[in-house]
Amino acid sequence: MILAFVEHESGVPDETSLEALTMARDLAASEGTDFAAVAFGDEAAGLTDELGRYGVDELHHVIHDRLEGYAPEAWGESLAQLTREIDASTITAPGTDRGHEVLAHAGATLDAPLATNCLEIEAADGAYELRRQRWGGSLLEHSRLEGETTLVSAAEHEHPIEEVETPTDPAVTEFAPSLEESHFRVQVDRVETTDEEGVPLGEARVVVGGGRGVGGPEDYDKLEELADLLGGTVGASRAAVNEGWRPHDDQIGQTGAKISPDIYIACGISGAVQHMVGCKGAENILAINTDPEAAIIQKADYAVLGDLHDVVPELNDAIREQQ
Ligand code: FAD
Repeated sequence: MILAFVEHESGVPDETSLEALTMARDLAASEGTDFAAVAFGDEAAGLTDELGRYGVDELHHVIHDRLEGYAPEAWGESLAQLTREIDASTITAPGTDRGHEVLAHAGATLDAPLATNCLEIEAADGAYELRRQRWGGSLLEHSRLEGETTLVSAAEHEHPIEEVETPTDPAVTEFAPSLEESHFRVQVDRVETTDEEGVPLGEARVVVGGGRGVGGPEDYDKLEELADLLGGTVGASRAAVNEGWRPHDDQIGQTGAKISPDIYIACGISGAVQHMVGCKGAENILAINTDPEAAIIQKADYAVLGDLHDVVPELNDAIREQQ
């Protein structure tokens, strides 16, 4: 039995969870074993229609009066208890911060091995042969994962999301874990949302990134305008975030968001490896940079050599004329 942990927002599964779900379903099919999902939160029961499109037969809904807010140890412990109860052989999760945190806690409780950010996974001789990302994707590792129970996460934006031809009608089974006070040492009790509107970076089809070359917070207006004209979202390099020009949520890279847009327009960004691992999922990269020797020029599909303060407004005018 493969058990897929699903993250969701008010009953709507995250894109990364659907990627991981597709990976889990393929894995279950290749092993000829069952496939079920597990989700937390009051609204999880509402996931059934959506999960049915991905071939889920059963949804385990974890019920506990203190589990509504995120609590990493308690969620991991619940996952471990459910795994024992249904005798799951593998737990999968999206390769997100939360997916990794929950799997790590569940793995510690189950004393089971964990492989994160998997790109390919194949059952072989009672174990898994894996290809996985290390160092944010700048290194690829071939490894073998063995254990009575194993845990794997799917690298973000690396697995296609595929619906099944005939949707299933998942049965919802409630699971009430037995938890103690010590499992709630860390618990989210309040969530503050930012005022930002628009598409989240990880899901945007167009991303306009600004780096140190932008020169200051006010000059992001031109990038915002470009993003608006193209129905996209603005991101930033770590240098721009460290300068305090943009919030950390906007950071793209190893220690930020992983993006996979149709086009990434990188303005005033040098193309450091730690930045590029966040945007290697982009279909196309257009770099705007004054330096022909900048690393990003080599890595981009298209490049404009010039000052972004001239190029971006001209681009905005040209797009406006076309619309
Ligand atoms: P710079 O490297 O200073 O480049 C600025 C670029 O702008 C230059 O290429 C310059 O030619 C160009 N430019 C200047 N003026 C203009 C102009 N007027 N018009 C057009 N172009 C212009 N970085 C990330 O981005 N994301 C991460 O997640 C991340 N994680 C990291 C993790 C670790 C452990 C470490 C050590 C580093 C990490 N970094 C990360 C930092 C990374 O190494 C780089 O320092 C950073 O990406 C550089 O940002 P930048 O390209 O904006 O700045």
